[in-house]
Amino acid sequence: MRLPRIFNKHQRAPFKSIWLFILIALVGWISCSLTYFIYTVPGTANTYLYRFHLMRHSLYNSMKHASVDAYQRIVRNSAMNDNYERPVSTKPPSITTTTTFLPPGFTFLPNQTCPEKFPEMTGPFYVNMTEIPMSDLYANYSDIIKVGGKWRPKDCVPKYKVAFLIPFRNRHQHLPILLRHLLPMLLKQRLDFTLFLVEQSGAYPFNRAMLFNVGFQEAMKRDNFDCFVFHDVDHIPENDRTYYGCSGMPKHYATQLDIHLYHLEYEKFFGGVSGCTTEQFKKVNGFTNQFWGWGGEDDDFYTRIKQGGYNVSRPPDEYGRYQSIKKNHGQEAQFLGRFSLLKHSADRNFVDGLNSLHYKTPIITQTRFYTNITVDLRPVKDLASPTDHS
Ligand code: UDP
Ligand code: MN
Repeated sequence: MRLPRIFNKHQRAPFKSIWLFILIALVGWISCSLTYFIYTVPGTANTYLYRFHLMRHSLYNSMKHASVDAYQRIVRNSAMNDNYERPVSTKPPSITTTTTFLPPGFTFLPNQTCPEKFPEMTGPFYVNMTEIPMSDLYANYSDIIKVGGKWRPKDCVPKYKVAFLIPFRNRHQHLPILLRHLLPMLLKQRLDFTLFLVEQSGAYPFNRAMLFNVGFQEAMKRDNFDCFVFHDVDHIPENDRTYYGCSGMPKHYATQLDIHLYHLEYEKFFGGVSGCTTEQFKKVNGFTNQFWGWGGEDDDFYTRIKQGGYNVSRPPDEYGRYQSIKKNHGQEAQFLGRFSLLKHSADRNFVDGLNSLHYKTPIITQTRFYTNITVDLRPVKDLASPTDHS
């Protein structure tokens, strides 16, 4: 007797296609979520991608070396024949000697230029990421740092007059953490310094590079700075020997980030904390003004530096170590236009930068530990002409 069929050929097809549909929907949903994640939190996505890349790289290397070792042991069967060149560390020798730093008790005269390597600069220090109100810093620094965030040494002639430009929008928890580590370090280094918080107001996407241009122009109106440091608010130095003065070449300070497992992310990386002399900054026409949102402006600046005939100067790895604040790290969406702009960095540099900078008159206030420059950034086409400023 023939059993009755529950599904015939035609009835089974839709059943199959439901599973196919679910599979396609699932793959679609995962890829959409991934794209959304990469677009909205690009910094975090970047960190994960970079970690994945490093893991893959180290796995590949260890497999390669293990298999070469095994090959030599088995096939040649003799340690004498082992002439395989094992990889040597590419890191420069660790700098732990204090010989290049001045010995404790070293004396110098008030009319002498301050050295770069003071005995008090002892190296790595503990990084404390606990959030605190700014007022917690008053007891230690209010009598030392002048209102507006200024200080200069009296026991020697400072080598550089440095303006720190900190790009800023809505990262209030981060600022006291940075100052808690930066201030004691700068006092030890005997630099003449002023801290500027360059804060973006208005509704446009964050423009880190343009904030630096505005900060540069406004700082130069107030004092004759000869050195500029472009310092992300969430990058905390780990070593007080990271000297914040300038040099003959533009400097990249934050080369070894904890979020990149203390590796230089890529050879042309110039983000996080960098700096240059006033002369170098003018020669490369400052930063671009055209990068609205996350990413690319530091790569563009690297191209400018190269085009200006400079090389990037980097400290020994040990001094380039920074920790990044992860908590309350809101993020800008990616600036997707950066890819096409970066293709033409070399041509654009002459027409986009300090020489094309226009901005509304900023509001400048002096607070206890910094000078605040608040500016409503807009693309030139959206500027209301009566308040234009350049
Ligand atoms: N920044 C800010 N508010 C923002 C975006 C950026 O203050 O909404 C400043 C801040 O100094 C920060 C820097 O710009 O450290 C770089 O931006 P972000 O931290 O978002 O970049 P990422 O660390 O993800 O590369
Ligand atoms: Mn950050």
